[in-house]
Amino acid sequence: MSSGTKVAFILHPVSVYHLIWCFIMNGKWLYFFFIVCFSTNAEQINNKIASQLTQAVGSVSTDNEEIINIREVYGDIISYYIPQEFANPQMSFIWEGHSNYAMKVNLGAIIVEAFEEWNRGQVRIQRALDEIERGISIRVNPHSDDSLASTNFNHSTGHSFLNVNLHTLERLLLKNFDAYKKRNIIRQDMEADTYIRLKLKIIFKHEFGHALGLQHNIDDGEFVGGVEGRLLAQSSGYNFWTGPSIMLDGSTSDYMVELNNYTGQPVSFEQIRPNANDYEAVRIMYTQTGVPPRVETCYFCAIGLATMMRSEF
Ligand SMILES: [Zn+2]
Repeated sequence: MSSGTKVAFILHPVSVYHLIWCFIMNGKWLYFFFIVCFSTNAEQINNKIASQLTQAVGSVSTDNEEIINIREVYGDIISYYIPQEFANPQMSFIWEGHSNYAMKVNLGAIIVEAFEEWNRGQVRIQRALDEIERGISIRVNPHSDDSLASTNFNHSTGHSFLNVNLHTLERLLLKNFDAYKKRNIIRQDMEADTYIRLKLKIIFKHEFGHALGLQHNIDDGEFVGGVEGRLLAQSSGYNFWTGPSIMLDGSTSDYMVELNNYTGQPVSFEQIRPNANDYEAVRIMYTQTGVPPRVETCYFCAIGLATMMRSEF
């Protein structure tokens, strides 16, 4: 343990109770348990964050505690529908210190490419050319909020919506463009339109993970009605991508920074993809039912030996 590690000792309530009891019963032989919970809040927490990068959290029904089987939710082939308005909209991105950056964005093609990447092994994903009643529908966000995109995973109806907020994309997508260049997170010569497509790929790959029932690495699932998040995949035994999960929580982690840390190179298109554990959790949600194992983490509790106390005064 290095000097940078802080250790927090927490006196367990049972210990406090026994301590008081010792004083009250002055003069008697007493036993009390001394229970100390300790956790480190520096390195261990950093290690915890690092380990979360390779975890994948899936959805478990709060009714029966079982993994939600997305094959039963969506059918053998998981359909998705992209409406016409996503085909090639003209967008105008705010770029601080510059005039607005206008471009036609082939959102449809970016969405298709991002979604098809989840099409692996037994999981079958297919674009539907007409509107669907079961599957995943893309739509312009009907609610006014500050999110770039959001997903309602609706496991009870089998029809989930992936909401895209075009105005927020225009407002925020170029926000870190110059800063990332300065920090070498992206290549110095990357053009704004390439960066915009890069960011959109991350967003759509992430949102489609939600539509498949994945949650953020550190979520317990409270934001999805009737489900609880449970660790479904955590392994390094794969011989393919073990980089950061595409399901990192954007409010607490920066996927681009994590990816850059992991590869030690400026972020490129090929590197942006679900990792081995993301795929594995989706495979489990597509093929399996049953109760996933509970994973206990966090505190290491040490139960001290019972201490005998004698008081003669
Ligand atoms: Zn998310």
